[in-house]
Amino acid sequence: MNEHAATMVEIFSSIQGEGLLVGLRQIFLRFHGCNLACSYCDTPAAINNELPEYCAIEKTPGRADFFTISNPVPLERILATIENWQKGWPGTHHSISLTGGEPLLHLETLKHWLPHLRQIVPVYLETNGTLYEPLRETINHIDFVGMDFKLPSSTGHSGLWEQHRIFLTVAAVKNVFVKIVVDDETQDWEIIKTCEIISSVGKNIPLILQPKTTVNEKIGINPIRAMEFQEIAGNFLIETRIIPQTHVFAGYL
Ligand code: SF4
Repeated sequence: MNEHAATMVEIFSSIQGEGLLVGLRQIFLRFHGCNLACSYCDTPAAINNELPEYCAIEKTPGRADFFTISNPVPLERILATIENWQKGWPGTHHSISLTGGEPLLHLETLKHWLPHLRQIVPVYLETNGTLYEPLRETINHIDFVGMDFKLPSSTGHSGLWEQHRIFLTVAAVKNVFVKIVVDDETQDWEIIKTCEIISSVGKNIPLILQPKTTVNEKIGINPIRAMEFQEIAGNFLIETRIIPQTHVFAGYL
């Protein structure tokens, strides 16, 4: 087996639907596997315990005309796809999004892949913000970090605060923002705790309040409640935005 190959779920081109880079066109590399199991997870294929036999790849960027190749996927296959897209659709893609699952579970692969990928376009890491040691080993090859803080009320996970704090400290040398999923169960103290940790690292680190999207594409929080959270965050941070998952409503992958 190629030691620099990774178990992937899908490779495709779409708009970034969340966070500070919302609306930009990206090449998504979705890795398999996650160290968490959030109650609202919208990528069950990425966190399934069974390793996927195949990875789905778009033939044409942004057209959802997928074909499959066997896992694990070697770097050479990824580079050939991206270089082909860059050549055929110059200037279209802002960056490569490493997503999952949790991409940092694939540390050895990333250490080998990232210097090559970053020579083509900038690299954006979407992460659950817990695996800070793998981040330390890869941060020099990453341009943007979108990290989650996992709130106990909406994810079912508690006790991740210290991991998030250390992770953010490592990520803060790059362009980083924090995203939290909020719903009607979110508590004021969770917003305050999140903001205290972020402001202890840097008051200018943006916070994204992402209203939970439920089945039937409904927003799972009263808009006034979301604005109350934004008002609380304003006591700690310079920039707090409320941004729903735009790709869900706009019909993108
Ligand atoms: S961290 Fe992300 S991929 Fe992992 S279970 Fe939670 S929502 Fe799903």
